[in-house]
Amino acid sequence: MPVPRESSPTAGPQPDASLEVCDTDSEYGLGVRTLVPRHEGEVIHHFTGVIGPELKQHTLQVSPGLHISETEIIGFLSHSCAPDCRLDMAASQLVALRDIRPGDLLTIDYAETEDVLYRQFACHCGAAGCRRWITGRLEAPNADGRAHLAALTS
Ligand SMILES: [Zn+2]
Repeated sequence: MPVPRESSPTAGPQPDASLEVCDTDSEYGLGVRTLVPRHEGEVIHHFTGVIGPELKQHTLQVSPGLHISETEIIGFLSHSCAPDCRLDMAASQLVALRDIRPGDLLTIDYAETEDVLYRQFACHCGAAGCRRWITGRLEAPNADGRAHLAALTS
């Protein structure tokens, strides 16, 4: 059951003052931080955007062959192999998977929504189960990824 927005009765994207797109000081560039405490199961954000066939850097997959772009927040979420949030693409919601403190970065597992990534990348998220190289859920590591993983195990 969607939680109604507290403030505006108007349709369309509204600035969300409890979330901040910020520089993560990492190689991944921008990220999203919560400015207020979040609780496990909480719907943090309802997203809107433009849905089309094109896979781009900040798009997210809504369903096979369809990607949402021009989102206010979710296109900037960082990846973690043990994320604190998940995206519910059917309900257009960002949901907390655990309690999150103010100032913490919000993270999702990119492979949860994406069949294929715009760009595969090495992961240093620090999670115990970190996969080390992140791909979409339907693709194998590319040549760079195979070399990266081979170097880690040699
Ligand atoms: Zn990781």
